[in-house]
Amino acid sequence: MSTRREAVKQALNEASGFRSAQDLYADLRAEGSKIGLTTVYRALQAMSDSGEVDVLRTDEGEAVYRACVTDAHHHHLVCRTCGRAVEVEGPTVEKWAESVGAQHGFTDVTHTVEVFGTCADCSARGRA
Ligand SMILES: [Zn+2]
Ligand SMILES: [Zn+2]
Ligand SMILES: [Zn+2]
Repeated sequence: MSTRREAVKQALNEASGFRSAQDLYADLRAEGSKIGLTTVYRALQAMSDSGEVDVLRTDEGEAVYRACVTDAHHHHLVCRTCGRAVEVEGPTVEKWAESVGAQHGFTDVTHTVEVFGTCADCSARGRA
């Protein structure tokens, strides 16, 4: 793994939620890194291909990334406002996905479920 990719991974680990390539680029530059935006994009792409990071699309269609705490299959509860993410399990979803696949004769069924909303902190700020 290159040191640049390591730096991007590090920045992602320090972030508490999902970050876009632009966000991470800004974080790294703020820390004095000379990394280029293209390098950040490439590192994120490589890490999402290898499953090291989670990637999802925001409502605006922007790709955002996060270094996951666990390698095990899980879902995310994501704040639309600050990008904070909580890793959650969904046993009901797992059962449903498997049975709906089986009903249609599908095997090797996988799924991605991300739940978006406004976190408690952000809704408190919205009311203040
Ligand atoms: Zn995750
Ligand atoms: Zn929030
Ligand atoms: Zn699942």
